[in-house]
Parts: sequence; structure tokens; C-alpha cells
Amino acid sequence: MVEPEDNAEKQHNSNGWRLVIDFEEGALKFMKQKYIINGTHQEIQSLSDKFVKSIGKPIEDEYFDSEKHIYCGFCNKYYEPFCREHPLFHYYEKNPTNEESTTLTAAEKTLPRVLSIRPSKLPGAGNGVFSKIFIPSGVVFGPYEGVKLFNAEKCAKEGYTWEVVDKFGSYFLDSSDPNQSNWLRYINCTRLWYGDKFGFDVIGQKEKALQNVFHAS
Ligand SMILES: [Zn+2]
Repeated sequence: MVEPEDNAEKQHNSNGWRLVIDFEEGALKFMKQKYIINGTHQEIQSLSDKFVKSIGKPIEDEYFDSEKHIYCGFCNKYYEPFCREHPLFHYYEKNPTNEESTTLTAAEKTLPRVLSIRPSKLPGAGNGVFSKIFIPSGVVFGPYEGVKLFNAEKCAKEGYTWEVVDKFGSYFLDSSDPNQSNWLRYINCTRLWYGDKFGFDVIGQKEKALQNVFHAS
């Protein structure tokens, strides 16, 4: 994953690699500087040749290791460390200890500045997370935090549990306590109630972009 503090060797020649937002595709891309078009691409970061070449080794399904490999839903394949055609960028949440507010919960204090928490239109969903800006596909938030449990029945509230599957089996992260979790507890599934069933729909460009992020991650 491209890290914001990545000390990539800066390459200012036109053949150098850049991490860009492609606004036509609504996605992150690795691109040579000479192909960047003003208005279509927004440069985020310079990347070294060595770094770009190290990204995107295809992994056969039987060798998948959740610690090292990430699945690309566009290519339907695992890559080490992630797909070069569909790169990922980790957007870090705020450090809750830097927030002085005494009214916010620990989870609310971790909310990135580009997001807001407000009542969801989804039936029974409570609060949801909304983006104030366009977020391209490939931006990764998280990881999800909560109290680690191995018994699903002990999870306090439905809708506040995330199952994590690793090579040792699976466990659950219970985020029902907003002081033992982070802002990801407010994320809702992408669904709309049609009277007799839940379905997918376009809720709005910003919300859709946000959903794409979570699908992609
Ligand atoms: Zn891909």
C-alpha cells in the first residue's frame, strides 16, 4: 500500500512515476509524469521506479496469505502486496489522543477530516458515514477496531461486528462500545429498502464513491 510518508526517491523527469487520481475513472493510478493531463489527473505523490516495479506480483489462490497479499476485485486475482493496475493508498485516521473534545467518543475522535457522521437514511441503521469530498476507488481506510472475541454469540449488538478471517481461523471484532473502537463502526452496508427487500442503488455521487472505497478494500 502506498503510504503517505513513503520516502520514495523523487524523480522529477517526465519519465518518472506518479500516484495520481484519474477523475475519468474515479480511481487511483500509477502513471508516468509525461502522460498526466491537467483536469483529468491529479498528482498525489512521486514514486521511484524500484517501488513501482515491486508492486503487483500475481499470487495463485492456493498461496494466498492474508498478511502479505491483497485481492483485486477488478482483476479477480490476488497480488503481492496489491495490484499495480489498481493501486491502493492508505488514508490514516486521526489519532484520538490529539483531540481535546470531551464530548466526542473515542471512535468519533478518529474520524478523518474528509468524512462526517450523521443519521443514515437506511432503515434502522442509526448513524452513517458520509464523505465531504470525492474519494477515488483505491483509497483504503482502517483497519476496523473493536474488542476481539472468538465467540460470535458474545458480540453485543448486531451490526457492530466484523469477522476477520486469517490463516489460523476466524475471530470477531465487536465495536458496540464507541470508546473501544474507531469510526469504522459507523459504516453501514450499501443497501436500500424497497418495501419488501434490500437492494443496491446509487445514493449520491459522494456516498457512492465512499461505498466503492469500502468495496475495493
Ligand atoms: Zn487489479
